[in-house]
Amino acid sequence: MKYLDEYRDPAICQRLIHAIRREVTQRRTIMEVCGGQTHGLLSHGIDELLQNHVALIHGPGCPVCVTPIEAIDLAIAISQRPGVMVASFGDMMRVPGSQNSLLGARSNGADVRMVYSPLDAVTLAQQFPNRQVVFFAVGFETTTPATALAVQQAAKRGLTNFSVLVAHVRVQPAMENIMQHKDCGVEGFLAAGHVCTVNGYESYHTFAETYKVPVVVTGFEPVDLLTGILECIRLIEAGTPRVVNCYERSACARGNRHAARIVDEVYEPCDRSWRGMGVIPGGGFRLRDAWRHFDAEGRFIREPVSIVTPTACRSGEVLMGRIKPTQCECFGAACTPETPLGAPMVSSEGACAAYYRYARSRVPQNETTAR
Ligand code: SF4
Repeated sequence: MKYLDEYRDPAICQRLIHAIRREVTQRRTIMEVCGGQTHGLLSHGIDELLQNHVALIHGPGCPVCVTPIEAIDLAIAISQRPGVMVASFGDMMRVPGSQNSLLGARSNGADVRMVYSPLDAVTLAQQFPNRQVVFFAVGFETTTPATALAVQQAAKRGLTNFSVLVAHVRVQPAMENIMQHKDCGVEGFLAAGHVCTVNGYESYHTFAETYKVPVVVTGFEPVDLLTGILECIRLIEAGTPRVVNCYERSACARGNRHAARIVDEVYEPCDRSWRGMGVIPGGGFRLRDAWRHFDAEGRFIREPVSIVTPTACRSGEVLMGRIKPTQCECFGAACTPETPLGAPMVSSEGACAAYYRYARSRVPQNETTAR
């Protein structure tokens, strides 16, 4: 299949693996930022093939995983208000809050619906004029344009029964947070190709310069991933912390200007809490003042929602790359995809789910971001 087979060609993969093994002078530590890349690396066994040459550390790029417990508790609290319908993506439904999930709230009688697009939630608001429809807006820069567009569409259609609970996050501040840890040993990053397709990668130049690490914009198929790793190794070995785009078929330096303009019209950066990582300065988006009347939290929440933080789940350490999922005591025992204790075991992009699916039997290895 065009645009797929050529990026899964075994002969090309073999050549890239040999090149990586040949060119690396000592075992290097590279973080892949995106959960989709983590699943690609594990499902094709790339991490195992390179384990003596490259430590691949899994980063925080799973949007569902990093959505904080308090945001899920807020969504559940809103869903319990009379006359309210909460809509969200399917992945969010089973993610545990402090005491329940949205799916659990639905079992208890709340009107919670799964949608495939934020615009579906706008359509629901039109179909049910007597209900307040709240879209739970989670995700990275890849999903913010669609939720910004939904807000603009709701305004155009004059819908007063539509609002958004915004929990959007931004990738680069999280990468900065990881690099600012004093014992961080990450030597290079594979940046998420789809985020760069929307956002561009110009801002990574300052990041690479500041933290002295190369950033390689990388796709998701085996040839993409191995090409990104090889380029990253070459930059590390040469001591040239530059930004290189290895996903040219989709990403360009300035990104999608149309999407960026829509996001900028509706949202502004803000400090945001990430699950397990705490508040990250500039780590999220919020509605600009001109759109604040679409803010579900302001519309429905009058008192703070109390949160009980579960202690067993080590998702924060997994998301920071400080432990592998298999090093969590609950992995595969108390915590499985059927009985998840944390978001990384639920999400289709979660690192714990990836290990459970592809690498459950592996002996835990002590590969972390820490030196
Ligand atoms: S295995 Fe489960 S409990 Fe452990 S960090 Fe992952 S999601 Fe949390």
